[in-house]
Amino acid sequence: MNHLPIFVRIEQQCTVIVGGGAVAARKAELLLSCGASVTFVAPELGKAARALCEARPERVTHTHSVFHPEHLAHARLVIAATDSARINAQVAAAAGALNIPVNVVDDPELSSFILPAIVARDPVVVAVGSQGSSPVLARRLREQLEALLPTRLGALARFAGARRALVRRMLPAGARRAFWERIFSGPVSTQVLRGEEPTAEAEFARELNASRAGRTRVRGEVYLIGAGPGDPDLLTLRALQLLQQCDVILYDRLVSPAVLERARRDAERVCVGKEPGGAHTAQEQIEALMVSYARRGLRVARLKGGDPFIFGRGGEEIQVLIRERIPFTVVPGITAGLAAAAATATPLTQRELAQSVTFATGHFAAHDRHDWQGLARPHQTVVFYMGVARMEYIVSKLLDAGAPRSRPALIVTRASLPDQRCVRGTLAEIAARARAAHIGAPALLIVGEAVASAAESSLAEPTAVSPILDVLRGVA
Ligand code: SAH
Repeated sequence: MNHLPIFVRIEQQCTVIVGGGAVAARKAELLLSCGASVTFVAPELGKAARALCEARPERVTHTHSVFHPEHLAHARLVIAATDSARINAQVAAAAGALNIPVNVVDDPELSSFILPAIVARDPVVVAVGSQGSSPVLARRLREQLEALLPTRLGALARFAGARRALVRRMLPAGARRAFWERIFSGPVSTQVLRGEEPTAEAEFARELNASRAGRTRVRGEVYLIGAGPGDPDLLTLRALQLLQQCDVILYDRLVSPAVLERARRDAERVCVGKEPGGAHTAQEQIEALMVSYARRGLRVARLKGGDPFIFGRGGEEIQVLIRERIPFTVVPGITAGLAAAAATATPLTQRELAQSVTFATGHFAAHDRHDWQGLARPHQTVVFYMGVARMEYIVSKLLDAGAPRSRPALIVTRASLPDQRCVRGTLAEIAARARAAHIGAPALLIVGEAVASAAESSLAEPTAVSPILDVLRGVA
């Protein structure tokens, strides 16, 4: 390592930027955001730099001139951002002679300091640098960190900062670190990150009192996370963040291995999958497992396919958590119906054709309580989940209720996964086509006029089954 990473305080300090173009203006914004004053040295200013001078006259000034070493007289820090290599070198030499730190944009050789790529969650700042060897790589890393660090991380730092003195008064030195560890790995931190500061405040007080009384409780919590349809790129940022910090993962069979790959390496993984007709863990057992892990003080990710509240029994699971007074967070996921629609370029609503969408189950535990007349009406799209086994039944119910035999239908299996397939047809022919194509679970049946609108030409194709790219090519 030949660069020392430090955070330099430049509040109320004079800084000089030589140059007046767009790059110079961007650097000025960075310096201004840290409280510095900025002087542009340039014969002319570009639009962005001029706007800064007008917006912040007390902090931003302009010296109308070509660069001269005298311009650095009071500078605490200098940035050379001209498009002339000769002037940039002059600035570097002048700053060097005066021992003023200088950065020459895109020229680590001439620079005495370089600016890292930053992820700002004020007051938390993460800086990434490659010591000038690969700024693009540093920026890519920055993007990854950007996705990983919760937006409200700064609020969490401020929350903790505002309570440091209190904790110092209340707890002996030896107990503080463990206390803060518990705060940052437990419900208080999850609540602040969710924006629920009053709840966090009360929980914090309870934690502090418990620690003071020597009753150090480790309080577990549950994250009920929607894992989306299977493609890990369709996870939400919050799902990724919580998967990185959980201790144990209870996952359903529908959760893809690629999604599990994105979770914390050393988290314990427990499959509680429910295979239709096969080996499974009963719902009560899953709930008991979830509660017992949380009771042991662990952070439990309850990972479900799609969205936890769409045919996911998420409602039953949170009932248990509420009854057992275990803190929990629900993270929505992209439900299979939306993923299948996106992957097959099928709009679910469309002016004139479909004014509402219904997500319906094709699996009737005891009784079929659907309003088939309602589901058969025109001008809507109906998405049937868990319907492969009962396709013929669903189709006959719709036809009996008055749906035309020609109504467009689409079956999508393993939406968003590499082996995704789809079958198109009319309501009258879709079930036979799907059987002929050996479509198995998990699959969705989508019915409605809008289904055909995006893929008119592919409907006419003789092959009913086609990998999705072929279908899209057919449309194009
Ligand atoms: N909570 C889930 C649904 C669970 S019910 C969600 O929001 O998506 C299980 C049913 O979802 C399956 O029988 C199938 O109909 C559907 N399903 C789940 N993942 C799917 C996928 N990748 N492709 C197609 N259908 C899927």
